[in-house]
Amino acid sequence: MSEIPTKTFFAEGIRFECTDCGNCCTGAPGIVEISEAEVETLAELLNLSVDDCAARYLEPYEDAYRIIEKPNGDCIFFEERCTIYSARPSQCRTYPFWLQNLRSKAAWQAICKECPGIGLGRLYTETEILDGIEQTPQ
Ligand code: SF4
Repeated sequence: MSEIPTKTFFAEGIRFECTDCGNCCTGAPGIVEISEAEVETLAELLNLSVDDCAARYLEPYEDAYRIIEKPNGDCIFFEERCTIYSARPSQCRTYPFWLQNLRSKAAWQAICKECPGIGLGRLYTETEILDGIEQTPQ
């Protein structure tokens, strides 16, 4: 992916641990993509068939689906905390290590103000962070 900087500002790694604050999954509308394989995992967690899971919680988006939101923009699965955490899609798993957040130090500093989990928890290596970027739908 040519857009990933070759010399990063996170060569020493970044600490991160989600605090379940919900800032990244509530409020302003957004798109959370979920692949066919991830829908199967989600359906299993919810004890639903894939078709029922899709009908209740998803809508078609590009080659797969997106998770629907409540009228206020919150993710349909956010109830004080993420209720599908073990089956959350890769877009959620890799947050905040997204290309749009890491393409510049200024972009990263803006995300640091929104996500209180940055700076906490274990140290993610540069390689893990770059892997996160690669796994995230752009
Ligand atoms: S903004 Fe950060 S700490 Fe809050 S729920 Fe999202 S990832 Fe977790």
